[in-house]
Amino acid sequence: MKIYIDGEYYDKENAKISVFDHGLLYGDGVFEGIRIYHKRVFKLREHIERLFYSAKAILLTIPMTQEALCQAVVEACRANGLDNGYIRLIVTRGVGSLGLSPNSCKKPSVIIIANEIQLYPREFYEQGMEIITAATSRNLVNAVNPAIKSLNYLNNILAKIEASNAGCEEAIMLNSEGFVAECTGDNIFILHQGKIFTPPLAAGALYGITRNTVIELARQEGFTVEEKNLTRYDLFIADECFLTGSGAEIVPVVKIDKRIIGEGKPGKVTRQLEAKYHELTKVSGEPI
Ligand code: PMP
Repeated sequence: MKIYIDGEYYDKENAKISVFDHGLLYGDGVFEGIRIYHKRVFKLREHIERLFYSAKAILLTIPMTQEALCQAVVEACRANGLDNGYIRLIVTRGVGSLGLSPNSCKKPSVIIIANEIQLYPREFYEQGMEIITAATSRNLVNAVNPAIKSLNYLNNILAKIEASNAGCEEAIMLNSEGFVAECTGDNIFILHQGKIFTPPLAAGALYGITRNTVIELARQEGFTVEEKNLTRYDLFIADECFLTGSGAEIVPVVKIDKRIIGEGKPGKVTRQLEAKYHELTKVSGEPI
């Protein structure tokens, strides 16, 4: 494996950053998780744009243009000979002193790890997944806005631990008002009486790229998709529920907080959207 750090490639064993990097000391940095399908980088430009927006929100200047970074990502995939896989793109605040202030960090670091993908178990896709609601609320939009894909994922990790303690792999996170925001690493959708609903981004969710793609595909398929504040009750009475994310793609949910969703198996609309999504991944993306 060849890992890109600031313009150079290193073997896995030698790919190291300083213990004084504020990415490590404070989670001060931003990142993206991107998929490679059939020798193409899926939605690369959208991920790079979101990375730059995240960086802008935390006053971090990425030391490359968007174009140069797109090229570096494609190059890193090529260097690793990957046809399918996952890219972790990270920009840290860089090396500084032990104080919080980012002013001591003179140069952000850009890291690209292109690797195999680790997926959810196959049975989640075949039979559907059980999830719970976490007691840990999603970050307030006025705290660390969930739209910022920052290196500080502790909010989500705490909810993920709750999921794991309950024997699940994912957890729903509510916002401070009690509305559904998203899951720890995925956006959430429901189908109710033929219409598709997903929480608005203002509810405190990441501006998911898979979420956007699925909304587009669903509309192309003739579905009405509404962004609406949802409560746990709305999820419990849904006919179908599914999660979206670059890593997860579209994963059906069949049980939430022990309530069976719909008929307790992956729904027809979820399956239809999964099929459309997979078709798209076969033909779209930046060639490696
Ligand atoms: N929400 C959170 C908290 C995430 O970390 C992610 C990415 N894993 C998503 C949603 C899904 O976003 P995307 O579709 O852009 O991967």
